[in-house]
Amino acid sequence: MPWRKIQRTNIRNVLELANFLELDPTVFSQNPRFPLNLPRRLANKMAKKTLTDPLVRQFAPLPEENLSPPGYHTDPVQDISFCKAKKLLQKYEGRALLLTNSACAMHCRYCFRQNFDYAPNLSYSEEITLLQKDPSIKEVILSGGDPLSLSDRVLKELLDALSSITHIQIIRFHTRFPIGIPERIDPSFLNLLKNCPKQIIFLIHANHQSEFDSEVFASLKEVQKLGIPVLLQSILLKGINDDFPTLKRLFEECAFNGIIPYYLHQLDKVSGAAHFDVPIQRGKALIEELRASLPGYAIPRYVQEIPGETSKTVI
Ligand code: SF4
Repeated sequence: MPWRKIQRTNIRNVLELANFLELDPTVFSQNPRFPLNLPRRLANKMAKKTLTDPLVRQFAPLPEENLSPPGYHTDPVQDISFCKAKKLLQKYEGRALLLTNSACAMHCRYCFRQNFDYAPNLSYSEEITLLQKDPSIKEVILSGGDPLSLSDRVLKELLDALSSITHIQIIRFHTRFPIGIPERIDPSFLNLLKNCPKQIIFLIHANHQSEFDSEVFASLKEVQKLGIPVLLQSILLKGINDDFPTLKRLFEECAFNGIIPYYLHQLDKVSGAAHFDVPIQRGKALIEELRASLPGYAIPRYVQEIPGETSKTVI
């Protein structure tokens, strides 16, 4: 089935999810501003009759989201103050981030950009002009939302425009799409990547081994076959991956499939996500345990984003 059709079958109704998981609907909350959005593939991997399943916790809106302890904000990494244009952000030297669109394959309840005021259109002319004028930018990160939510036609126009800028050397995709809908990596998309003259890097986001399966790995293998490095970024999340066996399995399985663990992020303190926070001391202890058990290339950098710093801060 084409990926767009698959995407249209996503579960978006809390009552439907409750029925599917054989749970009382009152265990979930409704959040119209950032509603439930769950690919069937991920729903089918969830354990029934429990809220402790790592996928249920990541994607189902829980009443804890309504708590607002101090220190949590709608824009925890101050994205808005780094905007050079509506869709262009620059935080670090040599790299700029294009907020390509607001749509995602799924809604992750801890998303730090869930409140971002995305531009409603898909025109990138202002952003492309700014990139053309700034030779210090060597890398453009396609983010969002998720860049793989765009049609291949829009993506092609974007890749062509970026490729025409001589000083841009690398185009990096930040995507979680293949985790929920691996069918997105279809021949047409692969053709786009293959014909792009710039070096491409794929940075996927996953937090638990159960997000992967043979089809997800096979889709990413097609990307790797084009000579595109595939890296992993994860977030340390309470009740999901804040234990040694879970992290070890996630990073080991990725390494076995040629996907290099790049970042383990400390949670960005976005409003409604306090129930996912893991203390930094716990994170550091987990990294030490992993160091004693995995080769260096399978251990990500444990990092935190501190607004105003010149790079991510390694913890
Ligand atoms: S896929 Fe990424 S951008 Fe989209 S909701 Fe999840 S974390 Fe946020």
